[in-house]
Amino acid sequence: MFEKVLIANRGEIALRIHRACKEMGIQTVAVHSTADADAMHARLADETVCIGPPPPKDSYLNIPAILTAATLTGADAIHPGVGFLSENARFAQMVEEHDIAFIGPTPEHISLMGDKIRAKEAAKDLGIPVVPGSDGGVETDAEALAIAKEIGFPLIIKAASGGGGRGMKVAYSLDEVEEALAICRTEAKAAFGDDAVYIERYLGKPRHIEIQLLGDGQGNCIHLGERDCSIQRRHQKVIEEAPSPALNAEQRARIGETVTAAMKKMRYRGAGTIEFLYEDGEFFFIEMNTRLQVEHPISEMICNVDLVREQIKVAAGIPLHLTQDDIQPAGHAIECRVTAENPETFMPTPGRITDYHAPGGMGVRVDSQLYSGYKVPPYYDSLVSKLIVYGATRNECMMRLKRALDEYVIGGIETTIPLHQKIIAQPPFIDGNYDIHWLEKWMGLKS
Ligand code: ADP
Repeated sequence: MFEKVLIANRGEIALRIHRACKEMGIQTVAVHSTADADAMHARLADETVCIGPPPPKDSYLNIPAILTAATLTGADAIHPGVGFLSENARFAQMVEEHDIAFIGPTPEHISLMGDKIRAKEAAKDLGIPVVPGSDGGVETDAEALAIAKEIGFPLIIKAASGGGGRGMKVAYSLDEVEEALAICRTEAKAAFGDDAVYIERYLGKPRHIEIQLLGDGQGNCIHLGERDCSIQRRHQKVIEEAPSPALNAEQRARIGETVTAAMKKMRYRGAGTIEFLYEDGEFFFIEMNTRLQVEHPISEMICNVDLVREQIKVAAGIPLHLTQDDIQPAGHAIECRVTAENPETFMPTPGRITDYHAPGGMGVRVDSQLYSGYKVPPYYDSLVSKLIVYGATRNECMMRLKRALDEYVIGGIETTIPLHQKIIAQPPFIDGNYDIHWLEKWMGLKS
């Protein structure tokens, strides 16, 4: 087992990884930017290395600085967390070339799934159902128009390298196609340095349902059920729950078996998630994330598995000891992503936390970097806390979530806690009867 792990990330996810390491008797090295010298992940780690100034490109994305920090501290593994370098195949490869273990999949699998066009082709080949659309990338306007006529409207143009809900454009009729294509290409080039795009049918009322997987790279792979992440704004998740209120046991078992068989065939290593849109009883693959996900704790709660611990073990070459029969999801879990944003305008609200009181009690988990006196810096993702609640039933879970949100005090800055309080009081949420468009429609109706 590793003796020392460098955590190449910040915020709540760095803390999450630190906690798993400490529980395994592993020393931790935190890297941080100058803006994060007082951050909780740096305060708790056994060693810290400042890797650069605040802009991510100079610190958390600065590969030479991170590799130097790992070498100088003698870390034998690097956990990339979520975002930043977590899906950067070149980084994973360089880590391995330095004789340091990368806690994640092989560079080849990261690279394959990071290109959404290739990923979709691979999924199809592995027997996973995909959203109907272009066969591969779309090169010219004429080609796009021909595909549009074939698949019909509305359709969505998506960037091959897209992520974080960016690089997508919907077209509702033929005369919108050329402009949507141009916008999508320009945005994709600017944001991801790659203007390759593809086209899919735009589903009208799907749910976003994803399957959590865990493989050891030695041919063993299991799934930990699904998460429903349909409460979204601008294609980004706001609230997630597990299990999905839309699936029954048979559907769950069937899709779980399909993706597990595919990942076994690939000899996938580490934690991964296959994301689907689900409509009228059918699943359509949209992408695979080859890393831990922000919403992983809800699967941990219902399956009673520490996913980060498992990631670390398989990265150390230990075969998966869990079998599919060991995974018996029970109860219900919901996660609210609390961000430092105005709950109505979504303008970022960095600043000093004057008071802090996290909710507690049975079935309540708070993964957060906040503490009283901490200053939320303006340079990074606005996620400041994940409130995760467990209940024996969905109803118990929702009552507990309401109680926990009411207890939560984050003083000094505005956060999205009031938005969460309103969402969970809405009948479609209470009934579990919502799709990926519901939140935006409801917010639109409200104002
Ligand atoms: P990202 O990598 O940016 O998260 P995804 O491909 O996972 O992009 O899609 C994110 C979200 O965008 C989905 O959860 C869904 O809300 C929406 N979306 C993507 N593809 C489609 C589609 N074909 N039809 C309808 N909505 C879509």
